[in-house]
Amino acid sequence: MTSPSRPKTTPDVSARMKRVRTSRTSAEREVEKVLRRLRLRYKRNPKSLPGTPDFLIQDKKLAVFVDGCFWHGCPRCFSGTRRNREWWKDKIETNRRRDKRMDARLWRLGYQVMHIREHDSQTRVQRRLLTAVRSRRIC
Ligand SMILES: [Zn+2]
Repeated sequence: MTSPSRPKTTPDVSARMKRVRTSRTSAEREVEKVLRRLRLRYKRNPKSLPGTPDFLIQDKKLAVFVDGCFWHGCPRCFSGTRRNREWWKDKIETNRRRDKRMDARLWRLGYQVMHIREHDSQTRVQRRLLTAVRSRRIC
């Protein structure tokens, strides 16, 4: 199956992409605040790891990704695009498949993987991080 070529960007889509980029950065900042509050030591974007996680909590071997709701086709927030619907669907499907592949590679390397969604509240992020760092078995 061949995927259609990249469509011309429409004003509708560029406005959306601009918003997405902005909110993604702020989502990462929110997660960073929680990590600091929990006094977890982390590294940003370790390029040596598959998929370059957004954060790595080294002593817990926990890789954290902050997924933008648009790019990762969040079932709660993503409602599709008006134009070039098929092309975007393909693109997002490709992203999701890549996420799964990277998760599997990290697992094989002994990392715990967590995906946080852009729409998650700080409370939820904190709860999930605490559960993950506490549940990590020491071996
Ligand atoms: Zn979402």
